[in-house]
Amino acid sequence: MNKIDLKLIEVTFKNTINEIEKIIDNIDFFNQYIATLIIHSIDSNKIILLAKNEFAQQIVKNNYLSKIEEIFNKNVPLMNFEFFVTTKEKIPQKKEVSSNNIVVATEGINKNYTFTNFIVGDFNKKAVLSSKSITSNNFINPLFICASVGLGKTHLLHAIGNEYNKKFPFKKVKYISADDFSREIYKALYDQNKMAIELVKTKYEKYDLLLIDDIQILLNKNKIREILFNIFNNNVVNGKYVVWTSDTDPDNLEGFEQRIKSRFHSGIFATIKKPDKAMLKNIAKEKMKNLNTDIVLSEDALNYIVNRNNGDIRRLEGQINQIFFFASSNSLKNPIIDLQTVKAIFEPLNKNEIKKYGLDFDPNIVIEQVALNYGVNANMLKSKSRIGKLVNPRNIAMYILRKKCNMTYAHIGQLFSGRHHSTIIMAINNIETRLNKNTDLKSIVEKIYYKI
Ligand code: ADP
Ligand code: MG
Repeated sequence: MNKIDLKLIEVTFKNTINEIEKIIDNIDFFNQYIATLIIHSIDSNKIILLAKNEFAQQIVKNNYLSKIEEIFNKNVPLMNFEFFVTTKEKIPQKKEVSSNNIVVATEGINKNYTFTNFIVGDFNKKAVLSSKSITSNNFINPLFICASVGLGKTHLLHAIGNEYNKKFPFKKVKYISADDFSREIYKALYDQNKMAIELVKTKYEKYDLLLIDDIQILLNKNKIREILFNIFNNNVVNGKYVVWTSDTDPDNLEGFEQRIKSRFHSGIFATIKKPDKAMLKNIAKEKMKNLNTDIVLSEDALNYIVNRNNGDIRRLEGQINQIFFFASSNSLKNPIIDLQTVKAIFEPLNKNEIKKYGLDFDPNIVIEQVALNYGVNANMLKSKSRIGKLVNPRNIAMYILRKKCNMTYAHIGQLFSGRHHSTIIMAINNIETRLNKNTDLKSIVEKIYYKI
């Protein structure tokens, strides 16, 4: 709920109570029953007040509620609030309560998904424009957004909810996945209680904006589909807004009745296409920026990432997070992540090196174990990277491969990105000297070797 509007309501309510004081002779009575009233929640145009006990509730309800309503509404032109009074005991628990004790009029909306952090390009322009029009007079109801996974359907639904709530804080908004909706209906059906279904229906028909995600999952759920579409029809007829998403084009929603499919087309239909490589690069850069990090990806590193992405923004976000995590946990000195580093992060270890080195085991296992023990990336150990954190574990891996596994210096050099054998000898000597003095290091080496 918008803070300014909440403030306005609170101030107006206080003024209203002051006005009421003027018409009550008995100050004790006023202090007992009227001054103790607080706003519990605001729901669309309904304001629910809490009285301190049931007796107070009755007094207010029978004698003062309509007066409060009248004075209050006089002070907020263009709005018409209806007042209710109840007691704390009668309020169901687990409501979403904001810091100032006022229930927010949105349900299931994630505040972090907004239009501000939604990147727009040709691939999703129509869907974004149609979504943003939710607060204008041009909104075409219902809106149907269709896109394959990871392209921002869920993000958009929440963004619509947040935007609508910002503009119309007193309207009721609900986000629900079709899956959760099904569960709710199943529960009511399972209870074999006709009233339960009716209650669910009534509940959903109250929402000024209903955001329903992933309706393709209703494929084999005829009964649930029917109930949902009844709600939908009623809401649309009553001028309430509905936004649907699906990963399948409405015409291809197999198992959905033709009648229902054609209803999807009664409003506006917007598809999000897969972003192309250039767009993916923009999104990657934007996502990096949002992480508030100094880290930048070199152009070839960016190309490497987008070439391995088939247009899935969720996956791209995962890749960026992985890079960010790697850079933070390895405290990289150079903020530029180059191709070699991203390769090390994403390419699986090559396990076909057994034959190549004439061994009877895979030397990568040693490297993986050392990496695991030191919390570094195994591919980075093999790489040419000179990050300080890698030096010691890399030397240990070389030591184990030579002294415990009898691998030749030349082969170890090859395995570690073509290092010269003299480098390997130096690394191993370094570990040998330290092992004689350092019992901790000795036990670490033993422990790793034991695991192999
Ligand atoms: P879907 O519901 O279509 O499977 P989501 O809405 O869950 O996709 O999006 C997956 C992830 O990608 C989310 O973290 C979302 O914030 C992000 N995302 C998707 N599209 C965009 C976009 N255009 N701009 C910014 N982030 C996006
Ligand atoms: Mg989704």
